[in-house]
Amino acid sequence: MGVSAPIRKLITTPRGGWIYSGRIVVILDFGIRRDATLPQTGGQFTSGIWLLPSDFPRFTIEPMIHEILPVGPLQCNCSVIGDESTHEAMVIDPGDDIEDILAIVRRHKLQVKQIVITHAHIDHVGGAMRLRAQTGAPILLNQNDYALLKMLDVQASWLGMATPGKVEIDSSLDDDQSLRTGALAASVLHTPGHTEGSVCLYFPAEKMLIAGDTLFARSIGRTDLPGGSFEKILKSLHGRVLALPDETLVIPGHGPKTTIGEEREENPFLQNNSQ
Ligand SMILES: [Zn+2]
Repeated sequence: MGVSAPIRKLITTPRGGWIYSGRIVVILDFGIRRDATLPQTGGQFTSGIWLLPSDFPRFTIEPMIHEILPVGPLQCNCSVIGDESTHEAMVIDPGDDIEDILAIVRRHKLQVKQIVITHAHIDHVGGAMRLRAQTGAPILLNQNDYALLKMLDVQASWLGMATPGKVEIDSSLDDDQSLRTGALAASVLHTPGHTEGSVCLYFPAEKMLIAGDTLFARSIGRTDLPGGSFEKILKSLHGRVLALPDETLVIPGHGPKTTIGEEREENPFLQNNSQ
């Protein structure tokens, strides 16, 4: 891998990463990479640096805002994802701490267009109605979790939490449905197992998966709660989630980020049980 060309020019991207134009090209220093939107031809990605040939045309990174905020006592990873051109945004799993989520929304001057719930557990959906009241955005949840959503007071009592009251769903999230926010696009993967209506959101251009509680770094979602099924979660993981490219960045519903490739290799629940 010959990295010998000089760096000629420095451009600051809207996202705060750095683009070096000339021969050696891009160093991305933001937490969520946008490398998938960089030109796919003529370059190689290695350790955060794109190498492009000197005659490669000038390009820009399509900006995306992505903030991940662990919310509530169970520290559910809430994602705020926005298009930096149109300032349209989706919020995924606003379980709690709505004021903190709204502070992110205001800081980036975003207009929330969708509130997406990966599944109807209280730590993921508990703040949805308050966020809807503040933003006017519709709440989306797969219909197979509507029954579980009616049990929020029971879930609250398991956790010794106050019940968030009734949550109204504006429309179902269906398998393979595509969700758009500005120029950003995600497709819905229905991945039952942790709950009947669990979904993951896949952003193909960003090669990123919002996994809800289906997949965690070196673990998978529990299946011992109502609506859970160990067979179904393994089927969803092998059939849908592991079908994604190895380089896909995974944002689980709790805990640290990982990638599909790392989990394919290292996750003890995904070994020797090819379904
Ligand atoms: Zn859950």
